Amino acid sequence: MASMATAAVFFGPGKPFEMAQVPIPEVEPEGVLIRVTRANICGSDLHFWRGDAPIKVPEGGWIFGHEMTGTVARLGSQVKTDSLGRPLKEGDRVAYTYFYPCGRCHACLHKEPAACPNKIERPVGPAVFPHLHGAFADHYYLRPGGQVFKVPDALSDDVVAPVNCALAQVLYGLWVAGVRMGDRVLIQGAGGLGVQAAAVAKDMGASTVIVTDQIPGRLELARAFGADHTLNVKEVPERRDRVKQVRQWTEGVGVDVACDFVGFPAVIPEGIEMTRSGGTYLEIGTISRGAKLELEPSLLVWGSKKIQGVIQYDPWVIPRALDFLMRTRTRFPWDRILSHKYPLAQINEAFAASEWHGKDTHTITRAALTP
Ligand SMILES: [Zn+2]
Ligand SMILES: [Zn+2]
Repeated sequence: MASMATAAVFFGPGKPFEMAQVPIPEVEPEGVLIRVTRANICGSDLHFWRGDAPIKVPEGGWIFGHEMTGTVARLGSQVKTDSLGRPLKEGDRVAYTYFYPCGRCHACLHKEPAACPNKIERPVGPAVFPHLHGAFADHYYLRPGGQVFKVPDALSDDVVAPVNCALAQVLYGLWVAGVRMGDRVLIQGAGGLGVQAAAVAKDMGASTVIVTDQIPGRLELARAFGADHTLNVKEVPERRDRVKQVRQWTEGVGVDVACDFVGFPAVIPEGIEMTRSGGTYLEIGTISRGAKLELEPSLLVWGSKKIQGVIQYDPWVIPRALDFLMRTRTRFPWDRILSHKYPLAQINEAFAASEWHGKDTHTITRAALTP
């Protein structure tokens, strides 16, 4: 096997990615080297690239990206099975986590790995072991403690690629927010996470799923993924009218669970207003540190409403997400999530084309790099 991998290295917002050769690490007994077959451009990657999620890019650059799938290139000497105990061998197609709960903090001690504050390290350069820190490369190094799951043959790489970020994230988020049979769910933002959340909410038994966005093509896709009602915020420019519309669709009550998958905090107060008394607002989209909003806390107090933040998920979600895709593969058009593909060397074009902020029309749901 080659001793070097090809990676796209990021040097900061406004600067082009540069292709580089990076050493393939010696695989530790509990590690797994993955040959990446799809590396998607996720909304959070766009935040880093755009520069609205400030991060310190190390000298020597940063290999990022996290939504991906691949095949086992090399197994550590102690790894004989996947994380469900099923035999695993080189060449098997897999889905896997990309974050590493530390096992030595208050959250980990209380068996809440998704809340571990140390599970994602600060960006480090490709010179630092294990070199292959992200998806935008032809190999990824799954460290000891990472979880890996075999993928059913019936699911294509294109369909599996969003599992370890977008799909697992929304599945866990709706689970934590407590969506139950018969609930009404509002989804703000019909990007990759939003449309998949519509399908997950329906599968969890939601009676009414409402999706808001400002791009008609995205709302059409949300309907294909189970949305009962869609609302174009550009066509209904007054917030008061939008809230009224959501109340009409929910017999005057408001939704049980509302979710931010937009990623800009301006939408949050409106979503909280659309939530029923006693309901929950799920905050996933706004990862950008420093982004602020003005909020009237009495709305939460008098409405007995909760805000639940979720970053990443517990690893048990991945096999459930794969089962969900198998079960619904004829019900929802999963092949429409990944809409565009680019070779890794065209990563700059792929990011430019994926940018949706400030555009009226946008045809890319998810772009994948095919290293
Ligand atoms: Zn992501
Ligand atoms: Zn921890």
